This record gives sequence, C-alpha cells and structure tokens, in this order.
Amino acid sequence: MTCLPVTLADIDEAARRIDGRVLRTPFVSSPSLTELCGVPVGLKLEHHQTTGSFKLRGATNAVLSLTPEERARGVVAASTGNHGRALAHAAKAEGSIATICMSRLVPDNKVSEIRRLGANVCIVGKSQDEAQVEVDRLVAEDGLVMVPPFDNPAVVAGQGTLGLEIVEAMPDVATVLVPLSGGGLAAGVAAAVKGRSPKIRVIGLTMERGAAMKASLDAGRPVQVEEVASLADSLGGGIGLDNAVTFAMCRALLDDVILLSEAEIAAGMRHAYEEEREVIEGAGAVGIAALVSGRLGRLDGPVAVVLSGRNVDMAQHLRVINREDAP
Ligand SMILES: *Cc1c(COP(=O)(O)O)cnc(C)c1O
Repeated sequence: MTCLPVTLADIDEAARRIDGRVLRTPFVSSPSLTELCGVPVGLKLEHHQTTGSFKLRGATNAVLSLTPEERARGVVAASTGNHGRALAHAAKAEGSIATICMSRLVPDNKVSEIRRLGANVCIVGKSQDEAQVEVDRLVAEDGLVMVPPFDNPAVVAGQGTLGLEIVEAMPDVATVLVPLSGGGLAAGVAAAVKGRSPKIRVIGLTMERGAAMKASLDAGRPVQVEEVASLADSLGGGIGLDNAVTFAMCRALLDDVILLSEAEIAAGMRHAYEEEREVIEGAGAVGIAALVSGRLGRLDGPVAVVLSGRNVDMAQHLRVINREDAP
C-alpha cells in the first residue's frame, strides 16, 4: 500500500488543509437498514455537504494546493456536474475563477447551477472524454490549470477525508459501501479507512449502464465504455485511458465492485426518501440500493454507507418516488 499515489499521510494533511472550508457532514444510524441487514448500518450524510456532494472536499484541497500564481490564471475541468459545482465554489472561495467543460448529457439543472456559482461554462460533445479535449486546449492555449474530477492525487486525498470521518464516527466499522465512477471517492475513502484499519472491507457500487471502472478492473487496464443515460448520471463518464491514480488504487484497495440496475437504483432513492427522509440523487443511492436489493448477501457489520450527493432534478425525483419512471 505504501507505493500507491495517495497515502493516509496525504489524507491527514488534506483534512488539516480543508478544515473549516468544507462541512463535517453528519453520520447517523439507520434503524430501518439495521433491521433489514441484521447488523448495525450507519449513513454518512455527505449529500448535506456544501454544493450538494463530496466533490467539494477534493476540489478545495486541489485549489488550496496550487501556488498563488496558478490560482490567478484560473482553473478548468471537465465535469458531469457535481465536480463543476464544487470547483466553481472552491475557486471563488479562494479568489480564483473556474471554467467548466461538460457534455450535452449533463442535465440542465446542473448546468445552470454551475453558472450561478460564478463559473464559465462550455458545453461540448456527447461524452466526458470529448469535453476533456476542450479542457486540454484551454490548458495549452490559455494557460488555465486543470483540476480533474478524480484522477489527481490532491483530489483523491480530499475525498479521502470523508473516510477519516467515517472511522471517527463508527470506530468498529467493518464494511464501507462507496459509490464508484472514476474512482476518486472510492480510492480516497479506501486509502483512509484501510490506512486506519487494514481489515475494513470497501465495496464499490455503480450502475450497470456504462460501468467504466468495473470494465477496466476486469480487463486489467483502463478501457472505454459507451456512455448511456442513467438515473445515476453522476456516475457517468470514462476513467481515462491514461488513468494515472485511481485505477491502480481501486485495483489495490477495493474488495468488490457491484453493478446495480436502474430499478434497483430507483428503489434505493425511494428507500432514502420514505424511510430515511432524505432526498438523494441516483448516484448517491447506490449504497442503499445494494442493501435494499439484497445483492450483497451477508455482510460483516457494522456497515457504513456513503450517501454521496443530492443534486437531482426535483421533477425526476418526484417521478421516481411516484414510481412513474420505472425503467
Ligand atoms: C462524482 C460522484 C460520484 C463518483 O465519484 P468518483 O470519484 O468519480 O468515483 C458519486 N456520487 C456523486 C453524487 C458524485 O457526484
């Protein structure tokens, strides 16, 4: 584990750096999931984070790690929404400005929110990989500094601070359930919790539709998958064929990766709303979805579940709750 790009020491340092700039989100026990699973289940309510997702942790750590001269040039990223919101907020808080490039698949509510946070928005192509081409151009021609959504050591270390808070809130945690897309969250959380206690199991959850990290782990190298619309739109996008940080970390640190159907994700959102009284987006519901579906079998407890974000279109959320969107 010592040869991985992000260590527990990096995450401890990130926690000191971003302290006071991001929320320490609540960790609560879930009576209904505890009863369902037969072991204690706790929920990390990270969807209550400022900007509505954990992405603020990584973006804030990355912006604070830049030199003043780099911050003055401005930061740029390709984002499916939540990283864009987070980077817009983090840049503004530190006196910089963000330019966010995203694909046409990103829902309108996320685009307008990023504009409102003061960022420049550019909509290009129909995949995150195409948006990334524009980011590379802005870096090369305009001198902006790229802060990627996941494949960057400072971003992964920032996301890992969430893992430190889980272990503090639930010191005997045995299993951690983490949403998985590019792997910044899962890599950071796994490095943090396994750094504290190596026998904690970390399971990545993602959607069947376009599971790039799962396909890459199976292939033994980063591979491309087709991008398809999903209830868990924040889990869309590739991991990058030249992935430098998160692929190696997920391969080394994740104990399992489980894929969920659209119907299972919808059931997870409904459980969050009806039983936990929480509004969460599809990507944030995959941990609960895995427990409710029974797909994980018998789990070592206590179990901690990361609810990663709440930035869902409210009309879509209502359709899911009313079972009108049944995919
Ligand atoms: C980005 C995001 C994820 C996935 O994080 P990765 O670091 O890309 O794996 C999960 N949930 C939400 C709400 C997100 O915004």
